[in-house]
Amino acid sequence: MLSEAGINNQCDTIAEKMSLVDVLREVVGIRTASTSTLYECRHCGTTLPADTEMCPTCGGEDVACYQF
Ligand SMILES: [Zn+2]
Repeated sequence: MLSEAGINNQCDTIAEKMSLVDVLREVVGIRTASTSTLYECRHCGTTLPADTEMCPTCGGEDVACYQF
């Protein structure tokens, strides 16, 4: 019983560390990359190529612009 609980705790700890590494990788990846801009249609949420003024998916002209 005791050893079983110990194994479960170990698994939880490893899973936590792995997800933390994934998060750190994402943060580092965004920070090391040069400033990138993401265009997204406010209507349907489609990611659009740079300098798009109209969404080809829904025809919406309201394009959101996110800069990292
Ligand atoms: Zn759209």
